[in-house]
Amino acid sequence: MTDTRLFSFEFSAPKTEDAVTKVKQVHDRLAELSPHFFSVTYGAGGSTKDGTKQTVLDLAATGSVVAPHLSFGGDEPEVIEALLREYQSAGINRLVALRGDRPSGIGSSMKMFHANELVGFIRQLTGDHFHIDIAAYPEIHPESDSVETEVKYFKQKVDAGANSAITQYFYNADAYFRFRDLCDKAGIKIPIVPGIMPITNYKGIKRFSDLCGAEIPRWIDKQLQAYEAEPDTLKAFGAEVVTDLCERLLEGGAPGLHFYTMNQSLPTLKIWNNLGL
Ligand code: FAD
Repeated sequence: MTDTRLFSFEFSAPKTEDAVTKVKQVHDRLAELSPHFFSVTYGAGGSTKDGTKQTVLDLAATGSVVAPHLSFGGDEPEVIEALLREYQSAGINRLVALRGDRPSGIGSSMKMFHANELVGFIRQLTGDHFHIDIAAYPEIHPESDSVETEVKYFKQKVDAGANSAITQYFYNADAYFRFRDLCDKAGIKIPIVPGIMPITNYKGIKRFSDLCGAEIPRWIDKQLQAYEAEPDTLKAFGAEVVTDLCERLLEGGAPGLHFYTMNQSLPTLKIWNNLGL
């Protein structure tokens, strides 16, 4: 029987020639797993805009389905329109629409357009050409005061025309199930695919989690600290924890998994193989 679950892999837009080569190599390795699509992040401040576009076009040229992430950032609508047209004519038919974060150094003067505005803009310009993914936050976005606020604004993005969602990463499956059930009660019926962040080192995951509002449960945090000086043990523990999380999510009806690969193939492959996918 065909597996209809949605599996996808995300790359960070490369900023150097070496990073470009690395992303291509990792893509080729992960493409063997026949994911539903790959996605490539976008720096709304401009730092990776060209890197995003070029990577998307290069990977799409290999026959993979590739979804660029996109935000208004500080750009005029005409700039985003031109980019959308370019993607459209290159045969790209999937996007991840985001508000993005204000880049450091830009200050608070830059107007931030919420993702629902971008989704509406894309639909108005290009109709149903693009399948649009949006972000979801089972552990609540750092700027939201409650899960009710989160669901309210999430619904606004869905009503604007989003087709599916990818969550911020989390290590607490209950947060996902509760968020999914609240969305269901609010009449939101699009697939909400959990974002999965492999764990390969302590300091990196700690810093990133603090920034994006993902909680590392105490029992994982303590154990990662204990294994900090033993990278192989830490990686094995991380892979075990994340595999268990994925198993629970899939058993609980998650429609698929979106892996934040951090531009490395091995951590994702390890979890993939553990899951027997
Ligand atoms: P929004 O949906 O606009 O929400 C942002 C906040 O505002 C939330 O607190 C929300 O509740 C609230 N809100 C939403 N709509 C409204 C409204 N209409 N009025 C008032 N408040 C509102 N960042 C990058 O820079 N580049 C990337 O490529 C990138 N990729 C990501 C991919 C995924 C799957 C995820 C989960 C996140 C990604 N991020 C990326 C991070 C993301 O840009 C940040 O989390 C950002 O702070 C919020 O973006 P959003 O699209 O969720 O914003």
